[in-house]
Amino acid sequence: MLGKSPAWQDAGGACSGYLVEAGGRCLLLDCGNGVFGKLRAARSFTDVCAVVISHLHADHFFDLVPYAYALAYSHQARATRARPILYAPPGARETFRRITGAWDAEELVEQSFELHEYDPDDELALDSLRVRFHEVPHFIRTHAVQVRDDSASFTYGADCRPNDAIVAFARETDLLMLEATLEQPDEGGARGHLTPAEAGEHARRAGARRLVLTHMSADHDAAHARAEAERAFEGPVELAHDGAVYEL
Ligand SMILES: [Zn+2]
Ligand SMILES: [Zn+2]
Repeated sequence: MLGKSPAWQDAGGACSGYLVEAGGRCLLLDCGNGVFGKLRAARSFTDVCAVVISHLHADHFFDLVPYAYALAYSHQARATRARPILYAPPGARETFRRITGAWDAEELVEQSFELHEYDPDDELALDSLRVRFHEVPHFIRTHAVQVRDDSASFTYGADCRPNDAIVAFARETDLLMLEATLEQPDEGGARGHLTPAEAGEHARRAGARRLVLTHMSADHDAAHARAEAERAFEGPVELAHDGAVYEL
């Protein structure tokens, strides 16, 4: 767990960023603001073989910019010639060009990473790991992501409002990580997020074995959030914190 903050990071924290490791392979799921520094504290960034982006909100991809600079100019990247595969949603190339084009570096991201805009219907294979996507309702086009090997599965709901899609996609997953951004359902106007109680409810309906709540501000009442989720879901509920490790 490199970062679990919502769109503004906690003091000393980072927005969405999750490192998935299996069989010696290292996959970074989302790369929001603050994540690159957390990644460097946990691993050499040149060890990451692939980065997967759930959707094109800043808190899920902004640190691709410093990451791309490190791949382009750092001693470590020059020594290892690291060029991770970057799986990003359809339209990502144009978004990255617009952002870094603001300072005339249009191709920074696509030159530093091997950029692929994924088709959400495709399944990716990274050695023993398989990665699947499923669209979930949010403010922009957004994909839940499931990573599995022969022994276990991990499902990340990305950002989403209450929906049936994630329930079907996460069926009987070993670990379901859902956002619990809102303290109250009517907080913040139009719905794009879940409350802890809704996250628990979705985990129960999916038959998930464990639930991790993420994308929560440190300003929220953590004990209350856990209690709300536990009321809906009988399995273990954990609150994400930066640096947490979950073994499957
Ligand atoms: Zn979002
Ligand atoms: Zn977000």
